[in-house]
Amino acid sequence: MISKYKSFEPKIIPASAMAKLGLKNVVDVPVQPELYSQSDYCFNNVKRYLESNDGSMMFGWITSIWGNLVLRLSAHVVVQKTDGNLVCVSPSALNAKKIKFLPDPTIPNLIKNERMPIKHIALKEHALVQELLDLEAEIGDWHLSGNGLMTPQDANEFNFKRALAYSKLEKLAQEVTSKNDQCFCGSSKLRKKCCK
Ligand SMILES: [Zn+2]
Repeated sequence: MISKYKSFEPKIIPASAMAKLGLKNVVDVPVQPELYSQSDYCFNNVKRYLESNDGSMMFGWITSIWGNLVLRLSAHVVVQKTDGNLVCVSPSALNAKKIKFLPDPTIPNLIKNERMPIKHIALKEHALVQELLDLEAEIGDWHLSGNGLMTPQDANEFNFKRALAYSKLEKLAQEVTSKNDQCFCGSSKLRKKCCK
């Protein structure tokens, strides 16, 4: 486990983060998985759906926040039906009925070795946050580079550094979370109804 805090889906994506990404729209997309759909395989799920249904692929990001400090964006693919409506045919990890989706047509350029990119954005300028972002970027590059390039020792070292970076940030997470924010712990409750 990387941290005792869970990441959570943000109710609102901070405008500063959207500006950094050059994105304007957040759309709510209904989740309607097919029987064959597997989580973490959105690309294959959409491809299979489009073999027997009209429509096209729409790339974008789904988001989660850790400690109210770091916004994590995972590339995701949904179906755009011929009437323009979007539908997510992959199961939601959190069993959500809809996802917040940030369409981004540039994602196909970032896909390497059939692996979907992941990005992290700082929600607070701080040396420790930057340290974590640098580490996540390094891990992200490795993820996109394909299998077989990292020894188990290197992987262990990465995970150790990552766990350390997250634990260093726990105090800062408490400091930046006001009582009316979603709690830093990831419970999805407001802080005033959760952690002291
Ligand atoms: Zn809490």
